[in-house]
Amino acid sequence: MPRYRTRAMRRKEFALLLDALSQLGLHQLKQVTEQATRLAGYQEAQALIAQRIEHTAACPHCSGTSFCRWGFTHAKEQRYRCRDCGKSFTGLTGTALCHIHDKRQLLANAQCMKDRLSVRAAAKQLGVHRNTAFRWRHLLMPSLERHQPAALEGVAEADEAFFRRSFKGCKRGMPRPAYRRATRARQRGISAEQIPVLTALCRGSRHSFIAVLPPLPNTASVSTALGPLVKPDTVLCADSAGLYKSLGKKLGITVWQIPSGSHRQGANHIQNVNALHSRIRGWFHPFKGVATKYLGKYLAWFRFFDHSPHPAKASRFLLDAIGVPT
Ligand SMILES: [Zn+2]
Repeated sequence: MPRYRTRAMRRKEFALLLDALSQLGLHQLKQVTEQATRLAGYQEAQALIAQRIEHTAACPHCSGTSFCRWGFTHAKEQRYRCRDCGKSFTGLTGTALCHIHDKRQLLANAQCMKDRLSVRAAAKQLGVHRNTAFRWRHLLMPSLERHQPAALEGVAEADEAFFRRSFKGCKRGMPRPAYRRATRARQRGISAEQIPVLTALCRGSRHSFIAVLPPLPNTASVSTALGPLVKPDTVLCADSAGLYKSLGKKLGITVWQIPSGSHRQGANHIQNVNALHSRIRGWFHPFKGVATKYLGKYLAWFRFFDHSPHPAKASRFLLDAIGVPT
């Protein structure tokens, strides 16, 4: 199995290079630091990409397992050649990231996403146009949507959070006139202006189920979302909303409803899901609003880093995006 290798400079030449640094001015030192950081990130990203080759251990074209190193691409990526079909490939072939030209920034881009930088802030940090930063972000996000829990077992909690419908970034074809920032909703309470997001999680777990529902949630939309997840012995704790009254009968499960104005009823409560909503609100804050068409992707992005009290590293995020289980 070919492994990723880096060539290090000889010790004598490296000592000369370090010595030469003392002759540089402040501006030149900053330039060297920036370049060194970029190259270190690139080498680290290359090592991560090589893990995908080790994981798949097969040609992405024919699934043949016999391949060898075959030089480097123009972007200095390690190229491989399949001995079965004769086609060449890299560690990113077949992933959404394979068409990114500047692969030196892959890890830095993942770090910007971990730090929840806005598109403009990420563009400034990466030294690229904001449209490029936007595109790179959206190439990474679809892979995150597959991390929904497979089932809700035991005692689970469910509730909806509401996000105001947003046409952020929409230049034409809006169904209503554009609002100025921070304009209040026209209708109070739940309306078609508010997009419901159904959240659910098992007691004692942070692996949350998050789904964007059509406006004005009802028993049908919630049962469609939760139906494939619940088991006959699932006990669902929910608030006093009317839709949960018929949900238990429709799904064949026990539903405990917390009366309005109470925090808990005996051992039943929805404090974990309320805490989840609080984390979601805090997490969305730096973005100053998210377009409704991207809401599901941003929630999947939140869920990936919220899965553990210790957020995943950028390297793990990148590995996940290229399909390496972590
Ligand atoms: Zn092949």
